Amino acid sequence: MPRCGLFKPAGVPCSSLDEIVLSVDEMEAMRLADLEGMYQEQAAQQMNISRQTFGRVIESARRKVAQALCQGQALRIEGGTVEVVTMRKFQCSECQHVWELPHGTGRPQECPKCASNNIHRAAEDRGCAGGRGRCHRHGAGGGMRRGGSVIVQNKPGKAGEGESA
Ligand SMILES: [Zn+2]
Repeated sequence: MPRCGLFKPAGVPCSSLDEIVLSVDEMEAMRLADLEGMYQEQAAQQMNISRQTFGRVIESARRKVAQALCQGQALRIEGGTVEVVTMRKFQCSECQHVWELPHGTGRPQECPKCASNNIHRAAEDRGCAGGRGRCHRHGAGGGMRRGGSVIVQNKPGKAGEGESA
């Protein structure tokens, strides 16, 4: 499954692009038929759908991809069970160094720059918004899917002090 959920023409800002949404099924159908070179019957079986359905799905998929390529539109892959992941951002609380890691590589133990273990997910990333500490080395492992509350703490002394004059 693709790591990247959005394909777009280079150099065109998203805001001025039309987006075509390709479903995960369509993507999978195209992968099986066109990339793996399967017969439709075989591919349909693999996807647990009828051959007629497969025919419809693949036709729609090809039309969308052709449209995106020919008309310079963005293609978004959506739906189904695939989680669209990009990179996770971490930040070091000591030196403020920010770096990225792909999903599935596990949590970093220390800052690659200063080797401090006082690290947390960067603010613009999911979870861990703002705040200091709270997320670093918070129970070992399994950090990805922690639902529930994210505690946001204000940085002491940064804002709200000496603003009066
Ligand atoms: Zn650091």
